Amino acid sequence: MQEEVVIVGAGQAGAQAAQSLRQGGFEGPLRLIGDEPHPPYQRPPLSKKYLAGDIGSEALWLRPPAFFSTNAIDFIPNTRATAIDRSKKRLQLENGDTLSYGKLILATGTNARWLPLPGADKPGVVTLRSISDVDAIRAKLSECSALAIIGAGYIGLEVAAVAKSMGKRVTVIEAQDRPMKRVVSTPVSDFFTKLHQNNGIDLKLNASIETLEGDGHVTGVRLADGETVPAELVLIAVGAIPNDDLAHGAGLDVDNGVLVDGAGQTSDPYIYAVGDCTRFYSTRYERSIRMESVQNAIDQAKAVAQSILGADVDYDPLPWFWSDQYDIKLQIAGLSEGYDDTIVVGEPDDNKFYVAYLKAGQLIAVDSINAPRSHMMARRVIGELWRDDLLPDA
Ligand code: FAD
Repeated sequence: MQEEVVIVGAGQAGAQAAQSLRQGGFEGPLRLIGDEPHPPYQRPPLSKKYLAGDIGSEALWLRPPAFFSTNAIDFIPNTRATAIDRSKKRLQLENGDTLSYGKLILATGTNARWLPLPGADKPGVVTLRSISDVDAIRAKLSECSALAIIGAGYIGLEVAAVAKSMGKRVTVIEAQDRPMKRVVSTPVSDFFTKLHQNNGIDLKLNASIETLEGDGHVTGVRLADGETVPAELVLIAVGAIPNDDLAHGAGLDVDNGVLVDGAGQTSDPYIYAVGDCTRFYSTRYERSIRMESVQNAIDQAKAVAQSILGADVDYDPLPWFWSDQYDIKLQIAGLSEGYDDTIVVGEPDDNKFYVAYLKAGQLIAVDSINAPRSHMMARRVIGELWRDDLLPDA
């Protein structure tokens, strides 16, 4: 009999690891432990169709409910793992139970980053990471007329687009001089600035916040320039932090993410980690990276399953990502950080173009706007020697 595998975190990566282990022929006991009440679900629609009310929660489930019992996966919801005893190979659960493991997989994801602003503890100030978060946000949105979003990243901008379509007054407050600055170039930021402004979003750039106002419930956001943005709901959308406490508490190597090698193995050979909570070295990008994407959650989980099943794997992905805002689809292939040149192909005014990012003449990333063919092409050619004649039309 193969030794028991226990997976902590029943999200995209945890569910994929369980499925890939079974598909790969793992016959030992397999447990999937999650601290949420739901079966494993996809998060991308949370800030898109689910928030808009276009789909219900069943449409989010990653596998049909019967999948786990059919595949002899002991799925345990509503249960938090609190500590790992590495010497005894045991996992401590919040409910007092302990579980033995042969191999442990940490798939604990991230939490929304909180900003300790003055007044941020008032009712009506929220973050968005889970189904319960969105259920609460939807309930509040239905009662309020004005929403302020702190942070012009993907999630903030996706929520802005949905709230605007519900007829709300929406203000996005961003500390940087352009939206999504951390991940896209100026032409892409400029396109999204215009898009949101044309849709009636008040986008405040270079803005700093003094306090969240309200006597009891939040009523507005006071900016450093003295202006107060009215808001009965304030969403803090300023990124995510990896859930690496469990690993850290067990003495595993952690550095803003659980450190893993190409096989997904942590500094303990019996413990692996997958998905958003991990950091690993990318030979392709010559630096350590921590990804927050469905692509990474799925592909790294598959690699870890193969590794546990005895294969020699070295996970070094070509990352890709997408974001939907109004009727615009942004697709990102590769990581653009460190680029020294860009080429814009197509016309931003046509709502269809792409930006190629080059470093020392080599293609490292492509952002495509409503240009899925360019995105697929980019995923194929990145890593190859860049040639002008490989540039397709937008
Ligand atoms: P998660 O899906 O976060 O799952 C981790 C699970 O572990 C959670 O259920 C957590 O509660 C649980 N957990 C944590 N600690 C414990 C513990 N101690 N015990 C038990 N359980 C625990 N990616 C894209 O590629 N495209 C998108 O458009 C996109 N949109 C997104 C929109 C939103 C609103 C969000 C939040 C994310 C989005 N992402 C998107 C990112 C993508 O959803 C994540 O990269 C993916 O979910 C990561 O999977 P994961 O399994 O690593 O983590």
